Amino acid sequence: MSTLVVVGAQWGDEGKGKVVDALASQADLVARYAGGNNAGHTLVVSGRKIVTHLVPSGCAYPGTLCVLGAGMVIDPEVFRQEITALQKTGMLLGDELRVSLDAHVIFPFHRWLDGSREDDVGGTRIGTTRRGIGPAYEAKAARRGIRVRDLLNPTRLRERLDANAVAVNAELERLGAEDRLDIEAEIARAVGWVVWLKPFLCDTGELVDESIRGGKRVLIEGAQGALLDLDHGTYPYVTSSTTLAGGACAGLGIGPTAINAVWGITKAYTTRVGAGPFPTRLDGELGDLLRGAGDEFGATTGRPRDCGWLDLPALRYAARRNGLTGLCVTKLDVLAQMPKVAICRSYADGVRPGHDEFEAARPEIEFLPGWGAPELAERISEARELEDLPAAARSYLDMISEFTGVPIALVSVGPGRDQTVFIGEAF
Ligand code: GDP
Repeated sequence: MSTLVVVGAQWGDEGKGKVVDALASQADLVARYAGGNNAGHTLVVSGRKIVTHLVPSGCAYPGTLCVLGAGMVIDPEVFRQEITALQKTGMLLGDELRVSLDAHVIFPFHRWLDGSREDDVGGTRIGTTRRGIGPAYEAKAARRGIRVRDLLNPTRLRERLDANAVAVNAELERLGAEDRLDIEAEIARAVGWVVWLKPFLCDTGELVDESIRGGKRVLIEGAQGALLDLDHGTYPYVTSSTTLAGGACAGLGIGPTAINAVWGITKAYTTRVGAGPFPTRLDGELGDLLRGAGDEFGATTGRPRDCGWLDLPALRYAARRNGLTGLCVTKLDVLAQMPKVAICRSYADGVRPGHDEFEAARPEIEFLPGWGAPELAERISEARELEDLPAAARSYLDMISEFTGVPIALVSVGPGRDQTVFIGEAF
């Protein structure tokens, strides 16, 4: 196997950064195919915490090529800050990074629109990260998006900015925002970006395709999670791009036949940020305990995440929409810190994910025996083989696998790279 796609199987924040980092040591190339700096991946390398938003989590290994694919939207200002921060830690040397000429660019006016819309009292609050991701994808679909390659062509850039200015400024005015899109200022800004961005740019579709053809091990990293997918998530409370494994092909420019395996990442429980359905959400003390134990605060925004028990029907839905061949279960150590543990196998009245009624689904909760012992978390954190895990944890994993029909490929028992139980072969 040479091409593995790794995606979030819940509402994002499943620990993709940690898992991709743990797998990237075996990869020659790590690529992202969708989203922008609304993603936030936390890596802990030698006890040091590093958060990446745009650069794929494979950046921790010198010599591994890191690709930002055509399906992404890139804010050059954020990208530059991230590169500088990574270089300071010695994690990224620069020549391992490639950016697609076809990716779309986030300008400041996309951020202004995003923020003003979220603040608009008459609008629907999606709970976006206000980073301009939605407006940039919207412009792309409306055929007035600005691609990375347009930055290199001043005439085309002016035409593209022209195509945006009237509508953008009218909307900013209506929303009461002070900022306006100024074409000359944006062109000057773009000229500055090109100076340092140019060495990274290439046809990444060709690069990834040739790597696969050459037998290289390619790891493809999704952003957010299945239930936030634009087509198959809890619409309209979703992100503005595809989060499913199927999107990896379109976002990178390779065919489905190039993918050998798809692993989905799930926490041992569930979290969600932003608005929208979340049937197993725990209010009150248990929710607070889970949030505290799991340190569930957004890596990108610092927002507290809602927490709840593992939602098996939602996970099975994600497994099927992604065609998962393996499951990576993270934060098992966190679950073990709870005084009791429960799961959801069904919702009342036969409701299922994808149904209209999912928004108000009432979970049927089942408490599990064998949990709630204080020494459980420590034993779980120290496990490096499946056999090291306590019986309650092993039967929990078996139950997840049986319900979803997907074998467990990896278990994460702590934030560190070594706190991982490898079960399946990644490549
Ligand atoms: P991502 O966007 O999917 O990469 O997820 P985040 O980085 O937003 O959140 C995952 C958080 O959980 C990070 O702080 C990780 O260091 C941490 N983490 C990942 N796996 C584990 C685990 O197995 N146990 C514990 N305790 N923390 C973990």
